[in-house]
Amino acid sequence: MPANKKLLVLPGDGIGPEVMYQVRRLIDWSDKRRHVTFNVTEDLVGGTSIDTHGVPLTDSTLDKAMGADAVLFGAVGGPKWDNLEFKVRPERGLLRLRKEMDLFANLRPAIAFDALADASSLKRELVAGLDIMILRELTGGVYFGEPRGITTLPDGTRRGINTQVYTDKEIRRVAHVAFELARKRKNRVTSVEKANVMESGILWREEVQKVHDEHYPDVELAHMYADNCAMQLVRQPKQFDVIVTDNLFGDILSDAAAMLTGSLGMLPSASLGAADSSGRRRALYEPVHGSAPDIAGKGVANPLACVLSYAMALRYSFDAGEDADLIENAVKRVLEGGLRTADIMQPGKAQVGTKVMGDAIIRELDKLAA
Ligand code: NAD
Repeated sequence: MPANKKLLVLPGDGIGPEVMYQVRRLIDWSDKRRHVTFNVTEDLVGGTSIDTHGVPLTDSTLDKAMGADAVLFGAVGGPKWDNLEFKVRPERGLLRLRKEMDLFANLRPAIAFDALADASSLKRELVAGLDIMILRELTGGVYFGEPRGITTLPDGTRRGINTQVYTDKEIRRVAHVAFELARKRKNRVTSVEKANVMESGILWREEVQKVHDEHYPDVELAHMYADNCAMQLVRQPKQFDVIVTDNLFGDILSDAAAMLTGSLGMLPSASLGAADSSGRRRALYEPVHGSAPDIAGKGVANPLACVLSYAMALRYSFDAGEDADLIENAVKRVLEGGLRTADIMQPGKAQVGTKVMGDAIIRELDKLAA
């Protein structure tokens, strides 16, 4: 891995700084033990940025994000800022980052650690060892399509409109990401739409197939309707490797898949932009959970979603798959050893706080790297 990679760390609000602190410890560990050195900058985002600068994301922080090889984001928001106008709320900081960095590909892995398989709402044998990746198109589709709005017709009837719209380019760029991801995994992509009832679905299916045939004939490709995919995810989730789908279906299917794995405190995510001429993609890595104001400041937050987001950054932005494996294996071993934060606590296990969980990961990393 090339030295001096630029990493921007934005811990944010609530439990964001608490879980990110454990990641900073891992970054230091990588530096000392693996000679993986980052050029780390930390900055404010969300409510803490509003308190200091009056806005949830300053132009200068945005510039740093645009120039970074990866952004690690904690979480934003909290009751202190809930009554602000929508356009200056903490969450706008994250939305602006996503928009300006043009992060069109959202990766949500659903990994069920064996030690936590009993926390799933499905039977242990259906989820133990589960490792799937949901890739959601994030900047197009029905959430952004025009026309949109609520109108009143001449006869007084009120009508709400949203428009599902995709161009071939938007579909093709996310398809490329899906096939590239699959090549680093089990080499299988399932493309999901509703081509049976939606023209945008027909275009989706045709374009994904073309990208496959032109560039990735070595990757196995299947097409599936979204309703069937929802059913298959709860019937036999291990049949999937990479699922690629649009913004709306991805929103729903990624939440369903996430719950197969048990807890919000365990779920990492990544959002990627387009590759430049050198192959570098803008990228933001963040836990799926929010700022959890109900437990902030108590030292009990589960840091694993943030830790696993850092492992994704190593894998997808820094091509350091071996280092990502080390961290994921350390997490697995800590869970097998019986340590649990409150959100994933099970009978007979030892309940610990954020810091002790971080200590345990470093202990396992030391053993793995010995
Ligand atoms: P949340 O994810 O913050 O919390 C939901 C529940 O899960 C809470 O009971 C919380 O204690 C628990 N939880 C979440 N993460 C946990 C962890 N790591 N360890 C242990 N328990 C954990 O969602 P919410 O309560 O709906 O929102 C709280 C605030 O976070 C709001 O201001 C919301 O806007 C914001 N939010 C931000 C993001 C983000 O920054 N990406 C995402 C979702 C919500």
